[in-house]
Amino acid sequence: MQLLDGKFVSEKIKQDIAAEAAEFLTSSGRKPHLVAILVGNDGGSETYVASKMKNCEKVGFQSSLIRYDNSVTEAELLAKVEEINNDTGVDGLIVQLPLPKHIDPEKVTEKIDYRKDVDGFHPVNLGRMMRNLPCFIPATPYGIMLMLQAYGIDTAGKHCVVVGRSNIVGSPMSILMGRNANPGNCTVTLTHSKTINLKEMCLQADILIAAIGRKNYITADMVKPGAIVIDVGMNRETSATTKSGYKLYGDVDFEHVAPIASWITPVPGGVGLMTIVGLLKNTLASAKGEIYA
Ligand code: NDP
Repeated sequence: MQLLDGKFVSEKIKQDIAAEAAEFLTSSGRKPHLVAILVGNDGGSETYVASKMKNCEKVGFQSSLIRYDNSVTEAELLAKVEEINNDTGVDGLIVQLPLPKHIDPEKVTEKIDYRKDVDGFHPVNLGRMMRNLPCFIPATPYGIMLMLQAYGIDTAGKHCVVVGRSNIVGSPMSILMGRNANPGNCTVTLTHSKTINLKEMCLQADILIAAIGRKNYITADMVKPGAIVIDVGMNRETSATTKSGYKLYGDVDFEHVAPIASWITPVPGGVGLMTIVGLLKNTLASAKGEIYA
């Protein structure tokens, strides 16, 4: 088994991003600027946003965090998005999900100017991705593609089974793996909670991508020996033994699956770090006008 090491790859790519950001600063007189909106105090969201902001600083971006408590109205949030859309000093805007129940995430996602949608969730970006046109690719699938590329994994002709069909991970992942590109050119099966015989499906996978949200759900008996296993899951559990007070678990039972996989991502230290790289690359591309002039 070989590790698809998100820490190693993300650090390497971040060095390149930092060099490009420095060049951008010299030529334009400003830094790429990412704004994040965080509503409420969800522990996971707090951690993810803090990490995104910290990584922006590391690569020489400007970052701004706008916080609201859970009582913010949908109208207030939409008005703030509109304000940031119109701010020429901002290159990327993300609204951390999940949002409180009284706010429609679809409305918020659609309100973000697709030219600043560096999470790649806006229907325009998803639609353009479908058609293989320049766009912001959703940060997590983008990060996974960068990881496969960094390790020179040959995906062409392989059977890729994606477990989970969310708009932000599973579905775009299935599109990217099936595209006529490298990485890509897989034969793709997209599975979900209504899939019958999930185990048999997974056993056919040369590349298995788990984006489910259930701790250790993919067990060794579901994995073909030699498969490449990508674990997107980030399942937080409180823990008395860690400094942070919680522990992260993947969707894959790493301990038992790793010995039979050819390549595997750890959790933590895998896809999560690559997601941040995807976000940073999208923000830089936005600042440089590489996707939308
Ligand atoms: P969602 O809850 O939006 O989607 C989960 C998907 O898994 C759904 O399509 C669901 O099927 C499917 N599913 C649930 N249970 C089963 C089951 N028993 N068998 C087969 N399929 C099942 O989650 P996300 O896609 O947003 O996230 C998935 C995981 O990835 C989570 O742990 C999340 O925290 C993590 N994540 C990690 C990121 C990172 O940077 N590493 C970024 C984003 C997410 P159905 O559609 O039928 O309900």
